Amino acid sequence: MKKTRSSTIGYPRIGEKREWKEALEAFWSKSITEEDLLRKMEALRLNDLQKQKNLGIDLIPVGDFSFYDHVLDTAVMFGLIPRRFRSDETPLLQTYFDIARGNKEAVASEMTKWFNTNYHYIVPEFDQNTAPVLKENRPLTYFLEAKNKLGITGKPVLLGPVTLLKLSKGYKQEEFGPLLKTLVPLYQQVLKELDEAGAEWVQLDEPVLSTDLTKTEIGHVKDVYEQLHSPAANLKLLVQTYFESVSDYEAIISLPVDGIGLDFVHDDGANLDALKKYGFPADKTLAAGVVNGRNVWGSDLEEKWGLLEAIRGIVSDNRLIVQPSCSLLHVPVTVKTEDHLEPELKGALAFADQKIDEITLLTKGINEGRPSIEDEIKTREETLQIFRQSPSRTKPHVQNEVSEWEGKEPARDFSFTARQALHQDIFKLPVLPTTTIGSLPQTTEIRQARSRYRHGEWSTAAYDAFIQKKVAEWIEVQEWIGLDVLVHGEFERNDMVEYFGEKLDGFAFTKYGWVQSYGSRSVKPPIIYGDVALPEPMTTKDITYAQSLTDKPVKGMLTGPVTIYKWSFPREDIRAFEVTKQLALALQNEISHLEKNGIGMIQVDEPALREGLPLKDAKKQQYLQEAIYAFKLATCTVKKETQVHTHMCYSEFGEIIDSIKQLDADVISIETARSHGELIADFEKASYDKGIGLGVYDIHSPRVPSTEEMETSIRRALQVLHPQQFWVNPDCGLKTRGIDETVPSLKNMVEATQRVREAL
Ligand code: GLN
Ligand code: ZN
Repeated sequence: MKKTRSSTIGYPRIGEKREWKEALEAFWSKSITEEDLLRKMEALRLNDLQKQKNLGIDLIPVGDFSFYDHVLDTAVMFGLIPRRFRSDETPLLQTYFDIARGNKEAVASEMTKWFNTNYHYIVPEFDQNTAPVLKENRPLTYFLEAKNKLGITGKPVLLGPVTLLKLSKGYKQEEFGPLLKTLVPLYQQVLKELDEAGAEWVQLDEPVLSTDLTKTEIGHVKDVYEQLHSPAANLKLLVQTYFESVSDYEAIISLPVDGIGLDFVHDDGANLDALKKYGFPADKTLAAGVVNGRNVWGSDLEEKWGLLEAIRGIVSDNRLIVQPSCSLLHVPVTVKTEDHLEPELKGALAFADQKIDEITLLTKGINEGRPSIEDEIKTREETLQIFRQSPSRTKPHVQNEVSEWEGKEPARDFSFTARQALHQDIFKLPVLPTTTIGSLPQTTEIRQARSRYRHGEWSTAAYDAFIQKKVAEWIEVQEWIGLDVLVHGEFERNDMVEYFGEKLDGFAFTKYGWVQSYGSRSVKPPIIYGDVALPEPMTTKDITYAQSLTDKPVKGMLTGPVTIYKWSFPREDIRAFEVTKQLALALQNEISHLEKNGIGMIQVDEPALREGLPLKDAKKQQYLQEAIYAFKLATCTVKKETQVHTHMCYSEFGEIIDSIKQLDADVISIETARSHGELIADFEKASYDKGIGLGVYDIHSPRVPSTEEMETSIRRALQVLHPQQFWVNPDCGLKTRGIDETVPSLKNMVEATQRVREAL
């Protein structure tokens, strides 16, 4: 009999070729029916379950699949439906998509990043009338589906009550305990039904246990799990944590549950230390996350074996589950189809399916003895050795350049106040300048052109001419709309990180390496495998062309070092900071090319800066210092005449506002439309004095906002921010929007600004 078992925490839902996105978008655009959608989704889901089974996973998660987002799934199944979407007539699936995407009458729910990842979840909303009810037992539905259709006894997965509530909004802190109590009977019901249906394990995801929790919060956790645990049930409860070490190891391993899932990859060794120091209860199962679920590198199997040996010194084999550190949602599906990659790089990579192979291999090693996997360990060692020694990874001139900056403080020569006056003179912008964040609609026509070019059907000249035509068209449109600061539109970019990855040395990119970012949207992060350098200017051609067509300023558009790092799959053989410094110097170089070509405003986007913030307070300061350093290293050499912009996407900036100040960017634009104004107060509190554009409408929703709506939102901001510092813009890039959504929205935005200006 097998003793140790293998599992995964979750599997990518998007399909090998993004079939998921295709089905969803076809449904939203009404080109397929609901029945078609359900059928396609089922096929995908079953395929992924069967695949995990074929790959040898013992405990296969079910219910991790989603039609949009698992937090929204959980909220809707418990009837946590925002008031503006409550209706007895609307079918539940429609309500579900409305909450996520907004509809004609109501704005979508807030969307924010899932811990320190680039996955976005929909924030559940509570209000006075929220009365949680069990609308549907999702995990049960999926459990039965797997059982009846595939004969798989799956491991139902469900977001735990503490995390669900912690991630929700619309209640006061003192209501946390009472609200949690209202959720408990619903969870009890779900578990009871799963037990009756014959489930063996259920995984309750509680990633908040990996953040800093107060004693009171830990108290709540204990209370809840005491109530959820039913001694009469056969069903075993696994509390799953990830992304960090648990904040209170002793309390968590003593919860009255049957298993605890710990991340042994992103814990900086703390989980293992705690395990050694405090031991592990003999009657509990440890689900050990030993394979990195967030990066694409193949495991050093020898090292993983060592880790497992250390764990086995404390936990007996029949109480051990081998699994990834977190859901495999955060990595692409398979390396198999990436046949264009250099073999030495390809050999070093592992996506979801290859990670599963590692997991089942390690499990076999435990169950059948190390000799049974000796060959594989050796082969892996050789492959990794070849990759490690590859000369393509090391560029002495890059490393020298980085060390030349050592000990120097990257700072601009002139203070913000001095620059501000100068910029006013140069650009002569009206009060409340209007602009956009950079990208303009990426229509089918544009995507097709790019694909033709990529497949060699179009020459470079033909493609360049096409892009220029688009730039010219949109410069005209922007002037017609009446925007003050223009953009070239980013038509040449497939993605704001991948585009730069393709131009910089040290990056490799995949064909199908997609990971879900929000809703149907995926990103294809490039892989940073070597030292980063700029071989030649990346953006000057398109930006200077755009600038040549207009008297209005056109912003040069770059992605910042922290974001490029964060939205890539980075190398792990050197520290993150070393990589971001290399990226910063490459960008510094690019910026000087833009300046030489007469570009006077340069936007360095750092949408991912906030998301990279470590979950534990103790690690935040160092992260922020290094992030600020990298941003300033990229931007510190600009002329005083140049206006530096930055852009960030996130809703909760409170705790990093001082760091934002230190970036010393002349203007920052921030995604805020979905946080419904909560952010403004943060900036007021911090007495932020630089230019600031708080998004006045939500670009993630297909809805065209009215002039009145945006006027209100500008006025609300002006109650706390000075008109001289306020910029008016949408809350993020417009590439995902159609032309017929974008043009009227921007027109309304300019009109709203006009009205406010007149009243000033
Ligand atoms: N400049 C980028 C764009 O407009 C910024 C995107 C982002 O913040 N994610 O698309
Ligand atoms: Zn953004």
